[in-house]
Amino acid sequence: MKVPFVDLQAQFQVLSSEMERIIADVIRKNAFIGGPYLKEFEKNFASFCGVSHAVGVSNGTDALRLALLACGVEPGDEVITTPNTFIATAEAVAMIGAKIRFVDVDPETGNMDPKCLEGALSPRTRAVVPVHLYGRPADMAVICQFAKAHQLKVVSDAAQAHGAEFQGKPISQWGDAASFSFYPGKNLGAYGDAGAVVTNSSEVAAQVALLRDHGRTQKYEHKILGFNCRMDGLQAAVLSVKLPHLAEWTRKRQSHAKRYDDLLVSTAGIRLVKNRPGAKSVVHLYTVLCEDRESLRSHLTSRGIETGLHYPIPLHLQPALSPMGFKPGDFPVAEAWAKKVFSLPLFPELTEEQLVYVAAALNECVRVC
Ligand SMILES: *Cc1c(COP(=O)(O)O)cnc(C)c1O
Repeated sequence: MKVPFVDLQAQFQVLSSEMERIIADVIRKNAFIGGPYLKEFEKNFASFCGVSHAVGVSNGTDALRLALLACGVEPGDEVITTPNTFIATAEAVAMIGAKIRFVDVDPETGNMDPKCLEGALSPRTRAVVPVHLYGRPADMAVICQFAKAHQLKVVSDAAQAHGAEFQGKPISQWGDAASFSFYPGKNLGAYGDAGAVVTNSSEVAAQVALLRDHGRTQKYEHKILGFNCRMDGLQAAVLSVKLPHLAEWTRKRQSHAKRYDDLLVSTAGIRLVKNRPGAKSVVHLYTVLCEDRESLRSHLTSRGIETGLHYPIPLHLQPALSPMGFKPGDFPVAEAWAKKVFSLPLFPELTEEQLVYVAAALNECVRVC
């Protein structure tokens, strides 16, 4: 049996006639940039996130960069984040000319360890960027309390966490702003690149709206120097078709994760990642930890099962950040995760048969390998 890591075609099967119609409408109406489809999506995504504003932008990396800029992060400021994430989190900070300060992650969740924040604080610290990795919320209560005590902004990298909740509150309601990615493989994916900043602050939303469109207030008038970081009308229309399905897709992801948990809980050599009490994950990725990752992965590959690594090199050891002078041992928990993590196929349309097949292959490997 073949089990792909994600299957975007399965989703398109269900939506194809509606998609083809709306894409033709966007073209007929010349609604390529901005326009009614973007407005409609922004309104509905803000409401999905439980906040008053969503500003559609070009991708999740720009969303984080513009959110940080709109929160007042300037060149030379320091921004605290974790090395256990995708490179984009660090790029967004670096592109502003701000300095990245990494803190290690919690050994149980792989998310920012709030206990490490104090040690990373300096007079130039301006913001904290928790990453809700794999769709699991970081410990926002403690992080936001720390930020408040030190007058720091909190901007979530929620690229993997559409709809996640912490202590019963949508992740977007914690902190000053959250950035989302609609990269095709994310829980809510466009047919190309797209992203959004969501916030309850009308100042932050207005500033992101200016920054994404050349600082333009009206035709021919530019209040500030900005960027071209707009969301396409086509992507907004595609996302509008998908958004009403997102809650149901998330329930399916959560139910698959529960099923994997049940089938793998006593598999020797595999450690499941637990959800913290109060943290509602939207299961972007189903990631487990194991010592002998390579034999497990190659066994699964031989059975036709695709797996992923999120992420095998922690950011502080990436060649791109070598000028910062980090070395192995600087963030030991993140390094241990990077050596052990691997992700199993998970998408809403995954069938019970595929899921059982993956779990059986893993259990078999533990005996054979
Ligand atoms: C996908 C992702 C991003 C970047 O989003 P793009 O839309 O690809 O720019 C940022 N951070 C995390 C954690 C991601 O998973």
